[in-house]
Amino acid sequence: MAAALTGNRHHAADIVEVELRTHRGGCLCGSVRYEVDGKPAVVAHCHCINCQKASGSGHSTGAMYRDDQLRLTGNTASYKYKADSGHEVARVFCPTCSSSILGRNTGSKGFSTITLGTLYDSSQFEPQVTVFARNRKSWDIIDESVPTFDAQPDWKPPENV
Ligand SMILES: [Zn+2]
Ligand SMILES: [Zn+2]
Repeated sequence: MAAALTGNRHHAADIVEVELRTHRGGCLCGSVRYEVDGKPAVVAHCHCINCQKASGSGHSTGAMYRDDQLRLTGNTASYKYKADSGHEVARVFCPTCSSSILGRNTGSKGFSTITLGTLYDSSQFEPQVTVFARNRKSWDIIDESVPTFDAQPDWKPPENV
C-alpha cells in the first residue's frame, strides 16, 4: 500500500518545473483570467463549512501565493465575512459565471489562495496538507496521504517563499 502511495509522487524534475513556471487559470465563462508565478507557499485541501458552502462541494483545494506572484484580469466580485478565527475572509468570484477564483484572509496578509480547479493545468501541483478534517461530509474523502488536521493548525506562510 505504501508503494502505491509513493508511486503517485512526482519526480524531482517535475517539482523544479513547478517552481519555475508561470501557471494560468480562469473562470468558467473566461472573463476572469489570472497568472501565478512559480511555487505556492502551500497547497491545501480545506473541509471547513465555509469552503463547503462556497464551493458547493465537500471541500476546496487551493494554492496560496504571495500577491506579487499573482496577476488577475477581468471584473470580479467578492463576498466578505468574519471567520471563526476572527479574521476577515474575502472570497473573490466571477460575477457572470460565479466561479470561485481565490480567497484572501487577513490572518495571512499579502497572500491569496487560488482555487486549484480554475487552473488550466494543475497536474504539477501536489496537496501538502488537509485541514478541518472534523467537518468532512460523510460522502467526501479525506486525503490521508498528507498531514491531516482536525481544524486549522497554527501555521503562517513563510516570509520568503
Ligand atoms: Zn466567469
Ligand atoms: Zn475552508
